[in-house]
Amino acid sequence: MAVNIDTFLSLLKKEVKDYQVPVVDLIAVQTKDPFRVLVATILSARTKDEVTAKASERLFAKAGSIQKLAKLDEKQLQKLIFPVGFYKNKARYLAALPAVLTRDFAAKVPESMDALLTLPGVGRKTANLVLAQAFAIPAICVDTHVHRIMNIWGYVDTSNPLQTEMALREKLPQKYWIPVNSLLVAFGQGTCRPIGPHCDRCLLVEDCPQIGVTPRKLKKKSAKGNVQRLVSWNVNGLRAAYKKGFMESLREMAPDVLGLQEIKAMKEQLPEALQDLQGYNGYFYSAQRKGYSGVAIYAKKKAIRVIEGIGDARFDDEGRVLTLEFDSFYFVNCYFPNAKGDLSRLDFKHDFNVMLQNFSEDLAKTKSVVVCGDYNVAHKEIDLANPKQNVKNAGFTPEERSWMDNFIAAGWIDSFREKNKSPEQYSWWSYRSRARDRNIGWRLDYHCVDGNSVQKIIDVEILQGIHGSDHCPVVLDFLE
Ligand code: SF4
Repeated sequence: MAVNIDTFLSLLKKEVKDYQVPVVDLIAVQTKDPFRVLVATILSARTKDEVTAKASERLFAKAGSIQKLAKLDEKQLQKLIFPVGFYKNKARYLAALPAVLTRDFAAKVPESMDALLTLPGVGRKTANLVLAQAFAIPAICVDTHVHRIMNIWGYVDTSNPLQTEMALREKLPQKYWIPVNSLLVAFGQGTCRPIGPHCDRCLLVEDCPQIGVTPRKLKKKSAKGNVQRLVSWNVNGLRAAYKKGFMESLREMAPDVLGLQEIKAMKEQLPEALQDLQGYNGYFYSAQRKGYSGVAIYAKKKAIRVIEGIGDARFDDEGRVLTLEFDSFYFVNCYFPNAKGDLSRLDFKHDFNVMLQNFSEDLAKTKSVVVCGDYNVAHKEIDLANPKQNVKNAGFTPEERSWMDNFIAAGWIDSFREKNKSPEQYSWWSYRSRARDRNIGWRLDYHCVDGNSVQKIIDVEILQGIHGSDHCPVVLDFLE
């Protein structure tokens, strides 16, 4: 079935109008400066837009022109652009760039494909993007999303981006050459995602041939008995998640109780829609330090009792634990401390873990307990993509894993592993090097239940198709 490209692209234009504008397009519109467009494009390869935007800002504050860039050495550049993907290579390209531009192009960014390809760090994709965005010259930049989606639609039948670019130059009307990249990048990041595309809510689903696609499946809540859908999600900033489609994710997940970690805001700093979320009772426990840590819970039913913290100011000042008591169970929502890259918070984390365990065990004397949240530890080798390389790293140290061993040995049940023994089930991915697209991740988010409540674990799922944070939500359907 041949798709009607005019219809598809005009529908997409409406669909993505509220999506984030790709960072290079934004820099082109804001600065109209070919040099900045070129540099931002080099930085953006294999890097998330948020990371590129921040790195570009830091770099342009020091080097907004070819002449100023020439004054920075490779080491300084590395420091400024870290953590973009392949930052060492990119720093080397940027250090070499001013000399080549000055020697061969009179200190100007050239306006032709052949000339651009002679610059350090510039391949065809970068050159096309610079031509299109900096000079408005018809050029087709073929990002991985463009290549992927054009093949899903059957508009081309190609095996790599270069073939796709050539095929599109033959058949795609020229009026679409410049906009097609940002349209499909936004669409590929938001709806037609590489893993589990959201076909269930895609406005093209009637006519899309979906070639080679496995759409995501959202599980329906079990109809058995009175099941509560308990969701845990480290949102890495609730205000940021709100801007990235939190409300839509909420509708899709339909939780009865939603525990959020790392909200990084006081209640009054949140948009009104989140301060008073329709259909839910909101409970907030923020850190004293602004913009740091903090947890919140949205619950359809009103809690009988709310317990803030675990009774130790070292942890409670950081807004790490919020507990709601319901008729038949306690919902303990936790943001476990991170041991930090230099492991300087390992002891702090261990003290927290022990206190939290004592606190939860006290609660379990009276009714069921679900301890959910970002545990900041991958328990076993199966719970991260690269266990060997991470044995000394925060989140997989022997000390952190050993506490988790003891916790489980004390009778707590990791509900996910109770139901699902498969590998590659991760809930967190680094923002670097497109780790999420490649599923190089860690399982850091858990619902653990007390040993007497194991029969109440009905279903579990990691919602890898839900974006908006570097963690994805995890779900436990729990019998009340
Ligand atoms: S229907 Fe699915 S595969 Fe087709 S464009 Fe939409 S999200 Fe992508």
